[in-house]
Amino acid sequence: MLFQMMQVGPLGVNCYIVGDETTREVLVIDPGGHARQIHALVETLRARVVGIVLTHAHFDHVMGVEALKRATLAPLYVGANEKRLLENVERQGEAFGIAVPPAPEPEHWLMEGDVVRAGNFALQVLDVPGHSPGSIALYNAENGIVFVGDVLMRGTIGRTDFPDCSFEELLKSIRTKLYTLPDATQVYSGHGPMTTIGEEKLLNPFTKNYV
Ligand SMILES: [Zn+2]
Repeated sequence: MLFQMMQVGPLGVNCYIVGDETTREVLVIDPGGHARQIHALVETLRARVVGIVLTHAHFDHVMGVEALKRATLAPLYVGANEKRLLENVERQGEAFGIAVPPAPEPEHWLMEGDVVRAGNFALQVLDVPGHSPGSIALYNAENGIVFVGDVLMRGTIGRTDFPDCSFEELLKSIRTKLYTLPDATQVYSGHGPMTTIGEEKLLNPFTKNYV
């Protein structure tokens, strides 16, 4: 497996480059800015971007999509219930005083059970609403890794104080979709350090009373 992480954009989003070590095909997850640097890193890996995938459509995860898509011509994959948020990324940015380019129209709207591939590397789509209506997690069982966006972070959970968020739904998503994965699964979040499912089950104060 090819695997690289890069912190991008004004709010320090974790962007992941992941894919097939043999075919050098990669997916870029959440290019929230620094598109040129992401593309340069892909080139130093002698890899080719075959898909851009968003865990959700909050503007800080979307900001580099337009430029990266133009540079790579890769198709864009977004959760099917995230359409409305994706359409208003410019307005989301305005609330933070940040200019956000409009997002391109996705080629693929993802639903639970869909699989996104780069060569022989595959990410399985899990619907995990709550932090946003169309948040998705991307699971690779073979390597025991899951990309969770802003649903679950080391020692904390995603914010639910934005419009279209639901605290109850978020906890349900974590309990039924993430905490059912093997304890050793490595969890890569949209912000902050990596953790594991087992560690969060044991130590995360936000989910302790609910799981
Ligand atoms: Zn978010």
